[in-house]
Amino acid sequence: TLSDRLADTFKNLRGKGRLSEADIDATAREIRIALLEADVALPVVKEFVAAVKERARGEEVSGALNPAQQIVKIVNEELVNILGGETRRLRYAKTGPTVIMLAGLQGAGKTTLAAKLALWLKEQGKTPLLVACDLQRPNAVNQLQVNGERVGVPVFAPEPGNGTGDPVGVAQASIEEAKRKLHDVVIVDTAGRLGVDAELMQQAADIRDAVRPDEVLFVVDAMIGQDAVTTAQAFLEGVGYDAVVLTKLDGDARGGAALSIASITGRPVMFASNGEKLTDFDLFHPDRMASRILDMGDVLTLIEQAEKTFDAEQAMKAAEKLSGRGGEFTLVDFLEQMQQVRKLGSMSKIMGMLPGMGQFREQLENFDDREIDRIQAIIYSMTPAERINPKMIDGSRRQRIAKGCGRTVTEVNQLVDRFFEARKMMTQLAKGGGMPGMPGMPG
Ligand code: GDP
Ligand code: MG
Repeated sequence: TLSDRLADTFKNLRGKGRLSEADIDATAREIRIALLEADVALPVVKEFVAAVKERARGEEVSGALNPAQQIVKIVNEELVNILGGETRRLRYAKTGPTVIMLAGLQGAGKTTLAAKLALWLKEQGKTPLLVACDLQRPNAVNQLQVNGERVGVPVFAPEPGNGTGDPVGVAQASIEEAKRKLHDVVIVDTAGRLGVDAELMQQAADIRDAVRPDEVLFVVDAMIGQDAVTTAQAFLEGVGYDAVVLTKLDGDARGGAALSIASITGRPVMFASNGEKLTDFDLFHPDRMASRILDMGDVLTLIEQAEKTFDAEQAMKAAEKLSGRGGEFTLVDFLEQMQQVRKLGSMSKIMGMLPGMGQFREQLENFDDREIDRIQAIIYSMTPAERINPKMIDGSRRQRIAKGCGRTVTEVNQLVDRFFEARKMMTQLAKGGGMPGMPGMPG
């Protein structure tokens, strides 16, 4: 898998200070293979890898990440971008019913999706109407009716023997029906063939013109891999669509189709269908798909953590440098002490066995771990200068700090008071005043 191979590449790159051309090439090669393995179309792979290399060259070397991680981060961001960035939401009509039309090959999963979408909308308080415009196959109307019944959504279909064979007429009539019966969303299921077909494409275009949909969704089977691109292009030219729905994501397809289609058509993927049950359906999340395509959710989590740790360390270092007052007890020291206490906490039992540590042990056991998190959050939302010299934190700054970390002003006040108390103790301690208890600790 890519994770394994990248891990090998990482081994070679770890510890190097900057992104060399060779580093970039080596990682780009792995990414290229991974994308091809995920069934991304070759032209898309080429274009994508070139863009990533270009960006990697221009990127400043990060202090937080090793070169390979840095490239992976770029790759991930570019993937998410192409997949549409943010999750795309349905656009509802301002007046009258919102019309959603489904288009795609036969077997793509349109009829199943129509029912899933209807259920999803119903759960959000909508009153959808399903419309059977696939009049090609004898069983198609019935299939929609069965599914509609299962999700408790009415189906508009031609009366048997009346109007059959005229999907455009049915589509048109369904809008009137929706207005009459106050349905706020109309979902139009259409016919598809096994391959792209001019006649059927024209039919879909005619239905589109008749109902003027707010959203045309192109439904495509994620398992068809490379063929997805040709099909997506044909439907874009023949019918046009606003967004894509990927079905059968429960299979083992890695989702390359999503990237190929999004990249070539410029249309975002909106929904993901991932099973035969009518509840197996969700909004599409570009970030989740990106890590599925690259098969490395864990690597991305690691990268995120590395960056967070680095940020925190940088903030502390900056504060330390600013101090330059050698030895004076600052909020930075205070926090460090707290963190040490946290580590000691897990050792409290051992400490209790040591002579003279009994009183200490009690304090440690009463120490609330979350308290340290709160203190840490408050101190992190101060400026480096404030951490060194808390005297400069006035009323309005206290409000700002509280807002910045989501704590109350009272909590900020308490922390600052506790700090000054602790500092007094530390000063006494330094003068040889004995052991008054752990600074900063209650009791
Ligand atoms: P249509 O011809 O585009 O209307 O496709 P259908 O809705 O009839 O679906 C074709 C087949 O794919 C049916 O057997 C469905 O049960 C199945 N199917 C649809 N969506 C999914 C999905 O997300 N996962 C799986 N595993 N099967 C699906
Ligand atoms: Mg169908």
